[in-house]
Amino acid sequence: MSSGSSVEKGESLKDTVLTLSAHRPDAIVIRTPWAGSAELVAGWTDAAIVNAGDGKHEHPTQALLDVYTLRQRLGDINGAKIWIVGDVLHSRVARSNILAFQKMGALVTVCGPPTLIPRGIEAMGCDIRYSLTDLPDADVIYALRMQHERMDQAWIPSLREYASVYQINGRRLLPRQVLMHPGPVNRGVELSGEVVDSPQAAILAQVQAGVVVRMAVLYEVLAGARAPQPAPEPQLA
Ligand code: ASP
Repeated sequence: MSSGSSVEKGESLKDTVLTLSAHRPDAIVIRTPWAGSAELVAGWTDAAIVNAGDGKHEHPTQALLDVYTLRQRLGDINGAKIWIVGDVLHSRVARSNILAFQKMGALVTVCGPPTLIPRGIEAMGCDIRYSLTDLPDADVIYALRMQHERMDQAWIPSLREYASVYQINGRRLLPRQVLMHPGPVNRGVELSGEVVDSPQAAILAQVQAGVVVRMAVLYEVLAGARAPQPAPEPQLA
């Protein structure tokens, strides 16, 4: 919402939302760099708010499409072991997926360099690992992008060093494991090119699922949540 909108010209988020609301929209989809903004906006308008990503905080529709994709691949994800690997600190996808995967009964482990694992994240119910030693236990590997645009200091010695320790590559990915990534992928950093193109990769299936799942979200907020209208009385001549 900030780029290409009046926020770029200095208007406050609140005034932008009030201006949009004056058009009486049924729904507003909001994607911003500010954590918590979707929730704030929901208090300023009667329109339904869809959070399409608020800073490092959450990305709920990504989590919904990831659950949809995994259920298509595995059938049931109850009891599945899912490892989320990489830059968890800057990842709104990780935060929404830890909640969504656990809600579906999966066992979630987050893994990455200590500097990129948020302190206290185990309070969300997940396990923490700092090395890939036990990665063969995982049924699903969910790799995260190294988020340069959200890093304001050096969190890792170098991308080369990161890749040597944490990159998911042909040696680390087993044939029975499902590989996911929210995109855009940095080939050669968090994933090697060969695993991106492997049959285990569900990355394009995730993109495809995004269309139907987001259509369903819009349907739900625009029509599904409304009270059913009684059928009109038949008009007798
Ligand atoms: N596309 C996802 C997001 O909007 C993941 C990423 O950018 O790394 O957060």
